[in-house]
Amino acid sequence: MRAVVYEGPRKVTVRDVPDARVEQPTDAVIRLTTTNVCGSDLHMYEGRTSVEEGTVLGHENMGVVEEVGPAVTRIKVGDRVSVPFNIACGTCRNCLHGWTSYCLRTNPTEGVDGAAYGYANMGPYPGGQAEYLRVPFADVNLLELPEGRDHEDDFAMLSDIFPTGWHGTALAGVSPGDDVAVFGAGPVGLMAAHAALIQGAARVFVVDKEPDRLRLAEEIGAQAVDLTAGGPVEQIMDATLGRGVDCGVEAVGYQAHDASGQEHPELVLDNLVEVVRSTGGIGVVGVYVPEDPGATTELAEQGRIPFQFGAAFTKGLHIGTGQAPVARYNRQLRDLIVAGRARPSFLVSHHLGLDEAPDAYAHFDARDDGWTKVLLNPGA
Ligand code: NAD
Ligand code: ZN
Ligand code: ZN
Repeated sequence: MRAVVYEGPRKVTVRDVPDARVEQPTDAVIRLTTTNVCGSDLHMYEGRTSVEEGTVLGHENMGVVEEVGPAVTRIKVGDRVSVPFNIACGTCRNCLHGWTSYCLRTNPTEGVDGAAYGYANMGPYPGGQAEYLRVPFADVNLLELPEGRDHEDDFAMLSDIFPTGWHGTALAGVSPGDDVAVFGAGPVGLMAAHAALIQGAARVFVVDKEPDRLRLAEEIGAQAVDLTAGGPVEQIMDATLGRGVDCGVEAVGYQAHDASGQEHPELVLDNLVEVVRSTGGIGVVGVYVPEDPGATTELAEQGRIPFQFGAAFTKGLHIGTGQAPVARYNRQLRDLIVAGRARPSFLVSHHLGLDEAPDAYAHFDARDDGWTKVLLNPGA
């Protein structure tokens, strides 16, 4: 089958790889209809991880079930499904508590709980930027979708970024009537803003410096805060008459940069501690593990980032972090889409065939104007 393969820093190719097949009785094989390129893929694409050359990328997958193993009873051949990026067993202690992103059984990498498709350190699972994908524990992991092609682009956001944005607001503790600051207007930040507005936030401030992304934030009813027009903390404090926001979502990660483009991994965390009012909450879904490609750094040392923890303590803030447990949210988010109350596809900018993936990666990586979210349609 054809697949998008990581070949080294800033190099992906589309080539033949071994077919995905049922390997365990609990597996299913999916024929992909849509598979997205994600900001998280860029950590690997830019050569900042230890991902092996030859890995098939792609963790935002949906399609139609082609084959099921003999122990799969709920999911049937022909079902249209969304595939959460987390690979969960469904029966370990963390899975049973709804933390499918920290499954204790699916990732053999020492020191890391939780597995994903086509990702560094997240287990030996090929990604879905391909014609077919093997899904372990199919009854646990797959979400059924209404038949047909309706809402294809909206449902394509259910495997990662919509639940991840939603998780950011849940970790932050967004309630109706709250003022919320979202740092980062990439796909994850825009989904967090969409989620906060659906949950009844009074005002959502979205901070970034990319004009096309800030425009999308305004289109969904958020208020754009342009980093290049002055300090975001001052702009948000002014708009809230010095009170600050109730909650904040971090959707940038360790590559946070200032208005001049200089990287400061602690910048957004510091900004959030300043703009969130005392006793408020912060949800950190941006990734804070700047991996050492040579793997010479101890896991415990990776991502050691100094920020204003003292001020966070003084203000009594609560801070939640980590990979989103997609299955905790995806049923409700699917139903909001079907009911017309959520439309996460507003950020989709491109539909391309699998063969166009190298081009898609290059444009998305360069943050070229208008390349907000690329969907690959294998077989289209
Ligand atoms: P992205 O790189 O497209 O977006 C990040 C945005 O942050 C960019 O638009 C950039 O201009 C902006 N930015 C940079 N510095 C800033 C600053 N100082 N203030 C405000 N904005 C700033 O990435 P994305 O796809 O939206 O993902 C965001 C992060 O979320 C990444 O680290 C990604 O790996 C992570 N992620 C986490 C999960 C999870 O489960 N926790 C899932 C998916 C993605
Ligand atoms: Zn993703
Ligand atoms: Zn588990």
